[in-house]
Amino acid sequence: MTGVKVKYLLGNIDNPNSADIEEYEKAGGYQALGKALSMESAMVIEEVKKSGLRGRGGAGFPTGMKWMFADRDPKFPKYIVCNADEGEPGTFKDRIILEKNPHVLIEGMAIAAHALKAEHGYIYLRGEYPAAKKVLETAINQAQRRGCLKFPLHIHQGAGAYICGEETALIDSLGGKRGQPRLKPPFPVSEGLFGKPTVVNNVETFANLPFIIKNGAEEYLKIGNPECPGNKLFPVSGHVERPGVFELPMGTTLREIIYEHAGGVKGGLALKAVIPGGISTPVLPPDKIDCPMDFVSVPKWGSMLGSGAVIVFAEGTCLVKVAWRSLKFFERESCGKCTPCREGTGWLRAILERIENGQGREGDIGLLEDVAGNIAGNTFCPLGDGAASVALNFIRHFRSEFEGHIKTDCRKMAVGP
Ligand code: SF4
Repeated sequence: MTGVKVKYLLGNIDNPNSADIEEYEKAGGYQALGKALSMESAMVIEEVKKSGLRGRGGAGFPTGMKWMFADRDPKFPKYIVCNADEGEPGTFKDRIILEKNPHVLIEGMAIAAHALKAEHGYIYLRGEYPAAKKVLETAINQAQRRGCLKFPLHIHQGAGAYICGEETALIDSLGGKRGQPRLKPPFPVSEGLFGKPTVVNNVETFANLPFIIKNGAEEYLKIGNPECPGNKLFPVSGHVERPGVFELPMGTTLREIIYEHAGGVKGGLALKAVIPGGISTPVLPPDKIDCPMDFVSVPKWGSMLGSGAVIVFAEGTCLVKVAWRSLKFFERESCGKCTPCREGTGWLRAILERIENGQGREGDIGLLEDVAGNIAGNTFCPLGDGAASVALNFIRHFRSEFEGHIKTDCRKMAVGP
């Protein structure tokens, strides 16, 4: 059950001038901001809470509730920050909003600034998105000239560290410190940027606000799963006929995403495995693709929605190699603050590397499970858990492939697509 079908995030992107304010306004853009400004701040927060909007950055925390925590704090929020540091492998959904529909983000931030009485806004932009920066600069200038922005909105470009997508690391990096996660509490809503209350939301989260305010929470609740309403952007990559970003109601099944929207597995091959929400989320075998893609359902099927980034692997893909390459990423991006992640990601990578190189030893699978088990739950931030989860879940679902690789050098076996 995915309810009403409407596109409000990427509906206009086929228009070659979709990033221009005039085109955005012609399609009804900035009407929601006008409506929000005529409402009391508390009413805007209440409407967002009623809508059931959950943060689209990966954790799925209810946005209205986050705002309520900020609202109750005596030191009222002074900053809103947009997390545009999209770095999870397989994830390129925010990029399309930033490059093709920047005003939906800017309008969403303006609504949030009014609701939270924020004095400054920041967009923390992934360093590898220079094209998005140019588009955003133009769009912010246009919005300022039109009087749509009542507060200064700054762009801050990151330097390419994946960990700065974690909100406390992002806040420290933005504040001029080394970008490393810090303990919570205090949560950013009470002590964030420059020690002041700060609300951090993802690009796609802000981009949902204009629809909610313009059409009301009740209309929003008709889209997707009522427990997890609204549309979601699903970036699909890997072995599919039509990779891309698809805007679909929450609760759309993995099967529909892969076979209807992404055109099916490349070359008509059989599906071997799929990662449903970026590489930090547990891999799923093909018999799980009837899983509805929303924050509530995916955990019941053994994984997590994460960023909604679907990565498809066709039959013939070497999954030991996939696990090894994933661990290489985590080892490189570990910020080094806590020992289990700093050391453990390197150990996992090294064991997988020797298996992949045909030098696997008897007992290596048990060793991988042992190391990963000692990382999981013992690290400062979710990066360590993500790394452990890659090793544990590839082994869980594809153990015989790992065993086969230890017995036979996979490079002498058939290659994939
Ligand atoms: Fe840094 Fe990894 Fe520890 Fe996170 S889990 S704080 S990335 S060392």
